[in-house]
Amino acid sequence: MKEKVGIVGIPPLEIIKELHRKKVEIIDLDEPQVQASLELTAAHLPRVYCAILRTVILNAMHIELDRIYIDVGPGKCDCALHVSIILKDMLSIPIIPTRNQDMEGLGFPLCRTRMPLLDKMLTITKNVRSINRDEGKKYPSCPPTAGFWGVPPRDFNLLTLFPDTTHIYGWTRCMENKTPSDLSLESQINPGVPTVFFAQSFCAKTALARHLADRHPRGLYLDCDVAAGSSARAKIEAFFELSGTPVLRKEKS
Ligand code: SF4
Repeated sequence: MKEKVGIVGIPPLEIIKELHRKKVEIIDLDEPQVQASLELTAAHLPRVYCAILRTVILNAMHIELDRIYIDVGPGKCDCALHVSIILKDMLSIPIIPTRNQDMEGLGFPLCRTRMPLLDKMLTITKNVRSINRDEGKKYPSCPPTAGFWGVPPRDFNLLTLFPDTTHIYGWTRCMENKTPSDLSLESQINPGVPTVFFAQSFCAKTALARHLADRHPRGLYLDCDVAAGSSARAKIEAFFELSGTPVLRKEKS
């Protein structure tokens, strides 16, 4: 039977290549993989903890894995480092911490192409398990009319409120580029387009998101926990309306 290996964050490319060579099934534990309440994680993590890492614990409680690679370096966060200790005590499988400092960029065409933001994000997060170079020809760049800065949110529904010509910045751009610890790329912004600076509640990146939003001529700082509630959705809608950004999206055929 195929080995099942969980990953948290973006382990170094060499490790992902090794997992491909060994033909194991790679499961992204940052994403919701099971239908179960996040409340179940309260025995292991405080409720006021980032929803991504609570999701990691929930997945680990329900999926039978052979081992887990968890990135705990500058490409992820100290919270992940602490979660790695909790996972070690919770589970009887090897928990292997990594520190991804890869700096060879593979490109980020998806971040700049015209496509529903939700689909862009789904493709970028799916690619975390891949070892491929960018597909610049498949995803040509479009002029941006809006920006999304930040990590992939726990609740992807938030992304349906953006125009298809939204460019992605921040850690998600580093994610597609496979350089998750590239702080200079993460800090890049485009002052020419209205930009939502998003961070998960209880994440240290809230500081950078708010700081960059304050410096941006048309920036909106937003943090959300597990689900993007009606107030977060209303803020985004009002922001685009006030900044005169038409939210035109391709109808799905
Ligand atoms: S959202 Fe922030 S706290 Fe949560 S895993 Fe990502 S970097 Fe860490």
